[in-house]
Amino acid sequence: MKAIISHDIDHITVWEHLFRDTIIPKYMMRMQIELFSGKISLREYTLRWADFFKNKWQNIDELITFNNINNVPSSFFIAVNKGVGLNYSNANALLWIEQMKYRNCEIGIHGIEFNSFETIKNEYTIFENLTQQKHVGIRMHYVRNNSQTLINLSNAGYCYDSTEHAFKNPYKIGNMWEFPFQIMDGWVIEDGKKWQSLNLKTAKQNTLKLIEKAQQQNLNYLGIDFHDRYFSHAFKTWLDWYMWLVEYLKTNKIEFVNFNTAIVELEKQK
Ligand SMILES: [Zn+2]
Repeated sequence: MKAIISHDIDHITVWEHLFRDTIIPKYMMRMQIELFSGKISLREYTLRWADFFKNKWQNIDELITFNNINNVPSSFFIAVNKGVGLNYSNANALLWIEQMKYRNCEIGIHGIEFNSFETIKNEYTIFENLTQQKHVGIRMHYVRNNSQTLINLSNAGYCYDSTEHAFKNPYKIGNMWEFPFQIMDGWVIEDGKKWQSLNLKTAKQNTLKLIEKAQQQNLNYLGIDFHDRYFSHAFKTWLDWYMWLVEYLKTNKIEFVNFNTAIVELEKQK
């Protein structure tokens, strides 16, 4: 089994949310609950206020550096549309796309449109025009989908998607490879709540069970989604969880690949 780690970019700045959505009040509420339930320390709480005033809600550079040191190819999904609490501009997205290209990252779209072929195709075209990139992959924001989404993504020209959450090997839909993923940071650490409900020890134990399940089902690729937003000392459990997970996979000789490398491997096997 190899591992494919990818990162969804849900936020770039704090201010992009001002007067546009309810993310800021929700964020305030969440950090109060986490502090009073003993899930975060006073230091984390203070650092979250610091992020707020620095207007910085992404940790892309820091995450790429950590990945590079650990031989993890950095693969990101970044949005070119707004919706469901995602509100950064294309100008801001493009600044980071340039930076990610410069640092040899794999870049796909964090999709907002999932309902119809026309809107899906339109999102694809916006990204293509913005980046001139061919060979585009996608993961839907909040993994939203309906019964037609994946087939529409394939018809729109995407070469890979990783929206499906399932213990299944990658498979083809038309010309598109679907990479089901198994582990998402939020699902593990929040465990069904809207705030951190588990401590690091329990989160690790639950993650090990997921890895074991993937091994038992003979998966060739373990899909992991970690949000760059949480690669920060303001989210210490999340940061420690991710660093532990990478170390654990390295220790167990699980090689890291990105989607494009996996596609080459999969096409060879056919
Ligand atoms: Zn998202």
